Amino acid sequence: MGQPHDELFAFEDEHPEGGVAVPARAAREWLVLVVDDDDDVHQATLFALDGVQVFGRSIRFLHAYNGAQARELLLQTPDLALVLLDVVMETESAGLELVDFIRNQAGLKATRIVLRTGQPGYAPEHETILRYDINDYKTKSELTRHKLLTTLTTAIRSYEQICAIEANRRGLELIVRSSADFMEETGLHTFAQGVITQLAGLLGTAPEGLVCAQAERGGLVYKVLAAAGQFAHLIDQPLDTLPQAEVRQMLLQALQGHENVSSAAGVALYVGYRNGNDMAVFIDTQDAPTDTDRSLLDVFCVNIGNLLRNRNLMQRLHEFAFYDQLVGLPNRASFVESLDRRIAQGALGQALALVDIDDFSATNDVMGHRFGDLLLNAVARRLRDSLPPQTVIARIGSDTYGVLGPQEDIHPEALMACARLPVQIEGIAHKLSFTCGYVALQADASSGADLLKDASIALKRAKKDHKGHYVIFSAHLGAEARARAYMLSELRAAFDAERLYLVYQPQLDLETQELIGLEALLRWRTEDGRFVPPDQFIPVAERSGLMAPLGQWVLGSACRMMRDLLDMGLAPRRMAVNVSVVQLQDQAFADHVGEVLAQTRLQGGHLELEITESVAVLPTAYLETTLAGLRASGVSIAIDDFGTGYSSLSYLERLPLDRIKIDRTFVRQITEPRGPRIAEMVTQLGRKLGLRVLAEGIEDAEVWIALRSMGCHEGQGYHIAQPMDRDSLLKWLRLRASGATSPLSAH
Ligand code: C2E
Ligand code: CA
Ligand code: CA
Repeated sequence: MGQPHDELFAFEDEHPEGGVAVPARAAREWLVLVVDDDDDVHQATLFALDGVQVFGRSIRFLHAYNGAQARELLLQTPDLALVLLDVVMETESAGLELVDFIRNQAGLKATRIVLRTGQPGYAPEHETILRYDINDYKTKSELTRHKLLTTLTTAIRSYEQICAIEANRRGLELIVRSSADFMEETGLHTFAQGVITQLAGLLGTAPEGLVCAQAERGGLVYKVLAAAGQFAHLIDQPLDTLPQAEVRQMLLQALQGHENVSSAAGVALYVGYRNGNDMAVFIDTQDAPTDTDRSLLDVFCVNIGNLLRNRNLMQRLHEFAFYDQLVGLPNRASFVESLDRRIAQGALGQALALVDIDDFSATNDVMGHRFGDLLLNAVARRLRDSLPPQTVIARIGSDTYGVLGPQEDIHPEALMACARLPVQIEGIAHKLSFTCGYVALQADASSGADLLKDASIALKRAKKDHKGHYVIFSAHLGAEARARAYMLSELRAAFDAERLYLVYQPQLDLETQELIGLEALLRWRTEDGRFVPPDQFIPVAERSGLMAPLGQWVLGSACRMMRDLLDMGLAPRRMAVNVSVVQLQDQAFADHVGEVLAQTRLQGGHLELEITESVAVLPTAYLETTLAGLRASGVSIAIDDFGTGYSSLSYLERLPLDRIKIDRTFVRQITEPRGPRIAEMVTQLGRKLGLRVLAEGIEDAEVWIALRSMGCHEGQGYHIAQPMDRDSLLKWLRLRASGATSPLSAH
């Protein structure tokens, strides 16, 4: 902010203490320099103008007898109003050289110049008069008192006008520039401090002064907001403590009357808008402000008033942007800023934690939103009360809080301890449980946003595997998360580039060996020819938004394949398609299925959907209706990987199902001594419930026979056929149609 001020004051220092005595600048005088090698002219001029006042100010004469003396004085007298200059001195051109010096070296643009010469023949060219902005040309014989006075008055008026214009220009520039500075100020104190500096600059005085404002909105108590110079010690004091009664009085008058007040002591300016929070500034200035100053001050005050209002507005906006209104804590954006600041100061030894309230959304649903809001507030308070006061606490997600502080203050155990006691909400003791992601900051921490990402990775992992506990972020976790993110972007690209395709695995009746179905399985061959197994990329797609379109694509492709097979007369009874719980979540899923069937002219009976026990996360009623609707259209439903999940038997009984698929882990162990027990149990269960039972992963004839003898209806596996791409499948189907050997009879 110092720049405009420096500029105004700079020239006072630029002039070295010279050999010629320069009279102290008295503001109430016009400075006039007489340059002439003839002492008589000096005397005559003094005599003619003795005691004269021009526009209320007296005149002080400076005298130079040659070019060198004149130069020295010129350099030291920036506010010289007029030079009365002898054209011919040491040399014929000495006078004109001095004119050039005045304008170009001394930089005195406002100073007026009147040339004088003894002989009329020495009149300068018209061009010279224009070039050097010379006011007048007079022969010395014309210098009667009357003529001199007229010349002097005209020149000084002209000088004053030029100065006023210049001051205006500089003042306006200053105001415009200071506006930009002020908009960057955040604290009211800094703002007020800036006002003093700018005003002092505008008035050309030292930055001495003070700003005060109402201590409370609408109250009559005033407080000093900023002060400089002799008032410096008054900062933050009530205005009453100001010893100078006159200054105090002026400030009160300005504040209460919304007006500017000036006296011999200085000026008190009212800055503000009539809506509280206004300010008054006192500036200690010896001179009463000139008209030019006054109009500039008006512009300044209005401008600053606007800025003050804007600043308050900005501050409110800032609060909205960086403050969580619900719980009264900083928000995510503000937290990231705090992190960045902490990193800049050195992050080592600091810790960042994300604290997540377990089952918040369930609580919200059951107890209502009002209760939920109160719970969020109670947790905010709990964290605030339990952690050291300098800890940064923010609300960074709906039910997630960010905590930042020294590691010794916010180690994970301390955070978990915050949940030990229940919170009281409307008289109900609500038991708390937190899950935390924790990051110990390293010296090379990159950015707040990145750290927050690390913490979220740890939190996600904790929520997945360690609910109610914490996970500390490690490089390993980060690498895993990055790999997943990388895989997702690759998968997206593969999907777009159609590098995903389906393979088909036959399903046979174990008794009759009839081909009953094909299971469509997704394949991803990367650009460099590697295969990524679906159990790796399907979970990644499920966690992103990609599963829905991907699943939709699988369904469409499988149905088109089924249509082709029907047209070729090679089709089995049905095509089985794996469906992710993410797809089922979409209320339009059943409609999508209907559309695809219609597009490919398939009947419902041509399609089977394989779901896993993970669908148990969906609301039972919703799941039941959706599945029942699908079955009503002829689509059959299989429960995949049966026995590996957690579904209860009653769940299994209630769901409208057609088929159970025994997971291949239970099939594989069938030939071991105690191996068949689970497969047997699942088979019997399925039969009791009236479902078909299909065994996955049949890798040899022995297993096939064992399964068949325990009553399992159907099977699939490498022993029958590998999943095959379109061409291999067609070959395989044609071979079968031609009556070639069955897998069983091969053994
Ligand atoms: P899943 O649905 O249980 O699919 C059967 C998996 O067993 C397939 O693995 C298949 O190649 C494999 N398999 C078949 N016969 C044998 C055998 O005799 N021995 C052994 N060891 N394995 C056999 P794949 O294709 O790698 O698929 C893995 C899982 O990925 C699938 O398990 C399924 O959960 C998922 N998946 C595959 N395609 C899709 C899809 O289009 N949508 C969805 N949502 N999931 C899919
Ligand atoms: Ca399956
Ligand atoms: Ca399976």
